[in-house]
Amino acid sequence: MDKKGALIIISGFSGAGKGTLVKRLISDYDRFALSISMTTRAPREGEVNGREYFFVTKEEFEKTIAEDGLLEHACYVGNYYGTPRAYVEEQMAAGKDVILEIEVQGAVQIKAKFPEAILIFVTPPSVAELERRLRGRGTETEEKIQGRLTRAKEEVEFIPDYDFILVNDELEECIKDAVNLIDAAKSEPERSGELMSSLRRDLGVG
Ligand code: 5GP
Repeated sequence: MDKKGALIIISGFSGAGKGTLVKRLISDYDRFALSISMTTRAPREGEVNGREYFFVTKEEFEKTIAEDGLLEHACYVGNYYGTPRAYVEEQMAAGKDVILEIEVQGAVQIKAKFPEAILIFVTPPSVAELERRLRGRGTETEEKIQGRLTRAKEEVEFIPDYDFILVNDELEECIKDAVNLIDAAKSEPERSGELMSSLRRDLGVG
């Protein structure tokens, strides 16, 4: 059945483990496709253009906005990030559930444009655990860690705009929970427009 896929937004505090969660959803389930964002930030060591991001100049980014080539975009820590429209639309049309791993301002834009999008906010079970994970990376300065916690204070205010909070305590559980949430959300009548229309049509109630 060629049914249109869903649009799934995954956001979360830095240190929540959302990157690992998204990678596993993509590798474990054929039904998901991952949107690759465009950004003006410089590639980090090991990042490949077209794999982690499409790395572009500010001019290229602004040109893409002017051409309406992005579904949403936001400025985060001084750099632009945005979701290229074409890939998402193609994959959804092909029946894939497309995952956007984006920050909160972009998520709010998507919800305004696509009310049927499924918004999931990933968090560790507590702030103590968040701090433990940020420190446990061992690669961050205290200043950077404090910066991430300050950002978490801003981001927590956006959580009520999301459809679900997903606690990432144990990764395997979290992956299963994510899939269950997505399936449940897709079965809600307001997200089942095509099925509702065909039921109404076939019952002759317009
Ligand atoms: P990083 O620079 O660490 O890869 O990403 C910084 C933040 O930007 C993360 O919260 C990430 O989810 C977010 N982000 C990545 N791509 C996009 C995008 O296309 N749009 C928006 N709004 N945020 C993005």
